[in-house]
Amino acid sequence: MTADQQTQRGWSPQTQMVRGATERSQFSETGEAIFMTSGYVYENAEEAESAFKGDVERFVYSRFRNPTVAMFEKRLALIEGAEDCRGTASGMAAVYAALACHLSAGDRLVASRALFGSCHYICADLLPRFGIKVDFVDGADMAQWEAALSSPANAVFLETPSNPGLEVIDLSTVCELAHKAGALVIVDNVFATPLLQKPLRYGADVVVYSATKHIDGQGRCLGGAVLGTSEFIVEKLTPFFRHTGPSLSPFNAWILLKALETLELRVTRHCDNALAVARALEKQKALSRLLYPGLESHPQYDLATAQMSAGGSIIALELAGGKEAAFRFLNRLKLVDISNNLGDAKSLACHPATTTHHRLAPEDRAHLGITEGFVRLSVGLEDAGDLIADVTQALT
Ligand SMILES: *Cc1c(COP(=O)(O)O)cnc(C)c1O
Repeated sequence: MTADQQTQRGWSPQTQMVRGATERSQFSETGEAIFMTSGYVYENAEEAESAFKGDVERFVYSRFRNPTVAMFEKRLALIEGAEDCRGTASGMAAVYAALACHLSAGDRLVASRALFGSCHYICADLLPRFGIKVDFVDGADMAQWEAALSSPANAVFLETPSNPGLEVIDLSTVCELAHKAGALVIVDNVFATPLLQKPLRYGADVVVYSATKHIDGQGRCLGGAVLGTSEFIVEKLTPFFRHTGPSLSPFNAWILLKALETLELRVTRHCDNALAVARALEKQKALSRLLYPGLESHPQYDLATAQMSAGGSIIALELAGGKEAAFRFLNRLKLVDISNNLGDAKSLACHPATTTHHRLAPEDRAHLGITEGFVRLSVGLEDAGDLIADVTQALT
């Protein structure tokens, strides 16, 4: 670690988000530069030879590394408290790379059942095609984790809070059980953002993000990231990454890098707004269920408050009148848009049973609590009063 990196690790997250890992070019610019270049030139043939041998650390090709992408990676690693990071083209590229670089035929993965739809596809359909055995557990049930991890495993993959059921998983307990079983723990931390929950502190080995969500948070681009120890990133992920090419575009990396500057302000407002909307919804009789990790009524409120510094931006609600009532509610919203994205400045709502989770078998949806009346609400940065007025009028 350089002296600069050591100083930056001592900064508070807010300072790291604004200034961490800034590299100025010969033009001494204030705003970080976008290096839209695929390749790099060498002074002489010897320099190219030593770059490829790995004798000198320098940029050789943007599928491997790029200066703008590297600024994003280093800044996010500082905020997360991770040794190293690789930016990826999307959140799914991050999830797949983290699993595929580590697992081989004959290995065993234990995963929580409540996963983002595409993560579920990778675990349930794709990895088994390559000879990886996958066992699912109910994430909140520690007895199931204990049983599944009583035999050897190579990796554990989980999401907490889960999408869209907002189930909270006890990270310390699962990490301890996983490590005893010999498994590497990979956490999809999208719902919690890098600010509200630090999986590495609870023993997780690898953290993955869809940067498309709160990190950009303004609906502009796709991106993702894998964070972990230098050993994992350099030895496991880098060869997979270099040769399969899930690389993040320098332009998108620049958007995400600049978005980190305001992440704390935005996430704080998301959480304040979501709590205010959730409290207003608690009084609504049209709802048969309301879940928000920051409300005392959440079944895992104590765990959520111990593990997360705030409840996040997502609220799950269930309308008593099933699909018809859920559709009526969505169609009556005037301010909140109907969209399957989340973590955006704009408040967005969707009906998971017919969109994000429509591919699941009806019994699997029922098991995850995704009923016909279930609506997922991603609370944005608008005025809380306006949002409360909109959801209230749409319910009545
Ligand atoms: C959106 C999302 C992903 C996938 O991210 P993309 O950037 O859309 O590829 C993965 N996990 C969770 C929990 C998500 O919400």
